[in-house]
Amino acid sequence: MTADRTSDRIGSDPSDWVGRDAAVVWHGFTQMGVYAENAPLVIDRAEGRELIDVDGRRYLDAISSLWVNTLGHGVPELDAALMAQAAKVAHSTMLGNGNTVVIELAEALAGVVPVDNPHFLFAADGAVAVEQALKIAFQYWVNRGTPGRTQFLALGDAYHGDTVGSLSLGDGGVFSAVFDPLCFPVVRTPGYADPGWSAKACAAVEAHAGELAAVVIEPLVQGASGMLCTTPSDVRALGEACRAHDVLLVCDEVATGFGRTGTLFASEQCGIRPDLMCLGKGITGGYLALSATVASDEVFASFLGPDLGPQTFFHGHSYGGNALAAAVALAHLRLIEDWDVLARVRQRASQLAGLLQSRIAPLGAVAEIRQRGLMVGVELAPPGPGLRWGRRVCAGAVARGVLLRPLGDVVVLMPPLTITEDEIVRMVDALEESVREVTSP
Ligand SMILES: *Cc1c(COP(=O)(O)O)cnc(C)c1O
Repeated sequence: MTADRTSDRIGSDPSDWVGRDAAVVWHGFTQMGVYAENAPLVIDRAEGRELIDVDGRRYLDAISSLWVNTLGHGVPELDAALMAQAAKVAHSTMLGNGNTVVIELAEALAGVVPVDNPHFLFAADGAVAVEQALKIAFQYWVNRGTPGRTQFLALGDAYHGDTVGSLSLGDGGVFSAVFDPLCFPVVRTPGYADPGWSAKACAAVEAHAGELAAVVIEPLVQGASGMLCTTPSDVRALGEACRAHDVLLVCDEVATGFGRTGTLFASEQCGIRPDLMCLGKGITGGYLALSATVASDEVFASFLGPDLGPQTFFHGHSYGGNALAAAVALAHLRLIEDWDVLARVRQRASQLAGLLQSRIAPLGAVAEIRQRGLMVGVELAPPGPGLRWGRRVCAGAVARGVLLRPLGDVVVLMPPLTITEDEIVRMVDALEESVREVTSP
């Protein structure tokens, strides 16, 4: 007989939130065997850019709740949009039917995405937006009657989500190696860590053009692999190679979208117009689960045909295009405009770059700082393996009231786009103190 761990814990001390949490909640990317010992925060509420835990302690949300938050928490205009939509309808299916607020959102997005005559297939998670893009790219060639276009080219160090299709595009690593037997093979060329990545990818596009359905990239920044950055011209060169060889280009802007890198989308800075684009994370300002696969009219048109015919895209999710999420996303898009958020991002990004250069880069423990807009990776250089500097530096920042979370030994700084001048200083103060504390011999 197995011990009943769950009922052992339920009903214990009601103020023991961590114990209650560990008894019944399974956290993603987390070893639950030691979860409770790792001093997790249990958040109860938020104000502005601060999260407040069950003990009333405040933390600057310097990772934007895992990269989703843009304008801070409890934004009155977004709260109001949510309440107003709730009074109308929270959700109605998008399969075969429409909803007014989703139509309004798609119209608003159509005016700003760098995709020609775009069409929007909504879902709820970034990984699903990528999964949909994969299947659309694959079926596009079938619909066009072009045989053999069944492969995808993806980059080294890529991350596109955790569903099996998006995981196949990703460049694995130790955490996902267990699923390798489930994943399909891809044409893999080096990622942004290799200064020659673009030329190599372009050469592979030329060599494999007849087999490739699409090339999938994270334009400008490979986020989850540690904020590896490249230049707009290198991305543009790959976009041009895709055009020249008639291979679809999929831009996964789940992390870079909605102002994060200083333009609304990173593809704009790169001067590319992808055939398919994946949106998620910041699309609702961090309020609700919403994602979208954006297709150019050229891609979309290949799916037109007789009712129930084989050109149809037979794919859809129950909560795709949720009306509450759409209402918040629509209000969010207007606020980005009304508050001139992109100009603020550029100002704060240059303030942050200056502070990182003067105070963090000179520290002996810091190997490299990579930044595009308010998307930053501070790579530490531990003298040996197993020291967990990334983890310990972030724990030190948390103890100082700044919530950080590392990617290995890369400390990620990903604050809300509305972060103030003073909060930037507060974030860098905590980082500097913590790096000194953890890494001084
Ligand atoms: C986070 C992320 C995803 C996955 O999005 P989820 O909403 O977590 O499924 C996909 N692509 C990129 C580039 C991401 O950063």
